[in-house]
Amino acid sequence: MKIRIALLAAVALTGLLSACRSTTGEHAVESGTDTVDASLPTQLPRTAIPSHYAIEVTPHAQDLTFDGKAAIDLKVIKTTRDLVLNAADLAISQATLTPNGGQPVAAQVSLDADKQTATFAFPTDLKPGEYKLDIAYRGKINTQANGLFALDYTNVDGQPARSLFTQFEAADARRFVPSWDEPDYKATFDLTARVPAKDMAVGNMPSAASKDLGNGLKEVTFQQTPVMSSYLLFFATGDFERITKQAAGREVGIVMSRGNGDKARYALDAEAQILPYYNDYFGRPYPLPKLDNVAGPGGSQFFSAMENWGAIFTFENRLLLDPAISSEADKQAIFGVEAHEMAHMWFGDLVTMAWWDDLWLNEGFASWMANKTTQHFHPDWGGDIDQVGDREEAMALDAFATTHSVVQTIRTVEQANQAFDDITYEKGQSVISMLEGFAGADVWRQGIRAYMAKLAYKNSRTSDLWAAIEGAGAKGLIAVARDFTTQPGIPLVQLGSARCVNGRTVVPATVGQFSNDRRQQAAASPLTWHVPIRATAGAGSPSLQVTQGHSVTLNAPGCGVLLINPGQTGYFRVLYNAEQADALRRAFPKLRPVDQFGILSDAFALGNSGYQPLSRALDLLATIPADAHAKVAGTGSGDWLRLFRAMDGNAAAQAAIRNHAAAAYWPRLQRLGFAPRDADSPLDALLRAELIASLGEVGEPHVVAEGRRLLAALQHDPKAMPGSLKTAWLGVIAENADARTWEALHQMAASARGATERSTYYHLLGLAKDDALARRALDLSITKEPGATVSAGIIASAAENHPTMALDFVLSHLAQVTPFIDLASSSRFVGSLVEDSGDATVISKLQSYAAAHIKPEDRRPINHAAARIRWKADNQPRIQREIVAWLKAHPANG
Ligand SMILES: [Zn+2]
Repeated sequence: MKIRIALLAAVALTGLLSACRSTTGEHAVESGTDTVDASLPTQLPRTAIPSHYAIEVTPHAQDLTFDGKAAIDLKVIKTTRDLVLNAADLAISQATLTPNGGQPVAAQVSLDADKQTATFAFPTDLKPGEYKLDIAYRGKINTQANGLFALDYTNVDGQPARSLFTQFEAADARRFVPSWDEPDYKATFDLTARVPAKDMAVGNMPSAASKDLGNGLKEVTFQQTPVMSSYLLFFATGDFERITKQAAGREVGIVMSRGNGDKARYALDAEAQILPYYNDYFGRPYPLPKLDNVAGPGGSQFFSAMENWGAIFTFENRLLLDPAISSEADKQAIFGVEAHEMAHMWFGDLVTMAWWDDLWLNEGFASWMANKTTQHFHPDWGGDIDQVGDREEAMALDAFATTHSVVQTIRTVEQANQAFDDITYEKGQSVISMLEGFAGADVWRQGIRAYMAKLAYKNSRTSDLWAAIEGAGAKGLIAVARDFTTQPGIPLVQLGSARCVNGRTVVPATVGQFSNDRRQQAAASPLTWHVPIRATAGAGSPSLQVTQGHSVTLNAPGCGVLLINPGQTGYFRVLYNAEQADALRRAFPKLRPVDQFGILSDAFALGNSGYQPLSRALDLLATIPADAHAKVAGTGSGDWLRLFRAMDGNAAAQAAIRNHAAAAYWPRLQRLGFAPRDADSPLDALLRAELIASLGEVGEPHVVAEGRRLLAALQHDPKAMPGSLKTAWLGVIAENADARTWEALHQMAASARGATERSTYYHLLGLAKDDALARRALDLSITKEPGATVSAGIIASAAENHPTMALDFVLSHLAQVTPFIDLASSSRFVGSLVEDSGDATVISKLQSYAAAHIKPEDRRPINHAAARIRWKADNQPRIQREIVAWLKAHPANG
């Protein structure tokens, strides 16, 4: 998500542009925004509006600089002496303004690095009317994914190579071109690039012309884009290869570094499969002539893919399937990420949020659509359970006082970057899922189609979406939608005693608020939501009631086992009384997998925060049947691993947990076998890797022995370990590594060719539990060896087992570490290293770091990390006591 640009002889460009305009079909008639919404927050004065940018860029890849020219058609709407545009890290050498039909006037340019603006001042007033602003400038090519950036890699011939890409969201187009770099200033874009003649250049649109300049360079001109926001502009160049297919009348393609075409077939097929589905769902065809997905060899702590219109960018590990290292989980993630980015071609690119306050309209929707699409094309992947997993990620953040509402107030660029979080994505997605259930899938889709039709090429707000869906027939939706998007937090539905009345279960419930770190305040004065609650007690379809206040009497069909929130699409937690919880536990093996997953998640959250004994969750965990759905089994083994980690330092408790985990899941792994089989279902393949990782980490002896055997074999035979299980096996091996093993992994990392393989091995080095080896990994991270976009990942993996050590290391090497962190993650990276730590001594370190480096209004992520650490430090002793007591009462037969 991020950008930068420049300009030529204005006359030549103008000629070029009008030629392109006549060829762009549908959008040629679309004009840029010619009004502005005065109520939107902005960092720019509302005096002028751009309608078209003609940008020319000449990168100097080896020097990490570029020359740019921009010719911007604009309309002055209010008399002014100056024009203020966004610009960051640009040196402007020349700027002139030409009134329509008049003579050019030179501008006096001043830059404000803090505000990221360039002011172009003129000797006389600019009256309302049309103008062209011509700017010549020079910019920087970055080594992290901000603006125009470089990714270095080893090419297919074994030589060092460098490719260039852009990343502009949220606010880095201004690093590429002086621009009105806010989402509601939509305009059309022409891009011309001078690149090495042997390289490929990729833009949002197909190229319109390519001309050899005779000096080893060629000039590529792309067709004009439709009107769009500046953050969606894209450019890449390098020694690329492109594979394509026709789908629904469009050319879809994957672009990757030369020699990797075979690894892109899976992503290309998925792209071709998804496009017609979206054309139908959104009720209008994808509007551009082509859709590329461009793979970048590297990584970011901030993002994995970006929805540039017509030219999605994705880091290789989430786009290319590499048999040497990609797992079944990677394969499924590739499909999901592609479905997410492609949903943005409509939701985000065609219709764009007016301001970052409504970012969730982009991200919540695309996340939900990706899951829906996955369930449509791959019903055997357990997407309904993943949806609940995403809800749990949102709730993990939403349970703290430092959370925020889905629709929020964004005032700074840094806050816009911070908005890319689990609330915007996962809560947004969960709320949409709940609302789709409330509206009904057909009514919901009809509303989405109406929204697209009304707002295509324009900007929208959350209220526009609700109006469209309610207009399609979802009566009462707005009241529910508003409560869940404008208020933070999680409703808590607490059940009283149930009675059976005429074949139905009647149960009084209170609707309060669930909280980890402010339970008493939340209980005393909870927020109020209109909560749609489904309930069933074993007969007929579940009932649906929408709560009005803090108490409700639920009325569920049947008099059997009471289940609230069947299907788990409701965004709330359910607290059953002891009798109901017992009945549910007895019925647990027979429940649908999605309900097993949801009930278990609720039970752990309620137990960890002290709303009910943790033993209820542990009882359920022990009740998961031996043949459980793979996603439930994977969660169960993962829960044992979390308990194992929680008991760090208590060998007896850890041994007991190991025995429980082994008794429950070793037989399952034995049935699956250690090696992949042709007959594996996707879920079998996924579960095998999960069981290897979790049983390996708790020290299940068979798994540990097999890991050692494979590592030894790997020294003589590079193919000894199946590629699809390498991450799982090497993770276990890396965690338990001694110095010799660690060095063997280090050698594998240093000699790996593929970018994904290489970064995976380097990241593994950080996982070592051994203090000295973790320290070596940290020392290695700030050398040149791993590479600019690999280093931060080593530090992050070292933080998994050594959070305090990693934090201390970063704080004492800030100058060396900072260049490895992309700008968009800068205020979050440090806090993220320790947010799962229970070591309260790190809080003061975080606070002093924030005081020195982060503006007060941008400290929410640090405050959130501190809140989590404080909560864990306060609650961990009780949680450990409850675990020990349960283990004593439930001895496992190792
Ligand atoms: Zn997205």
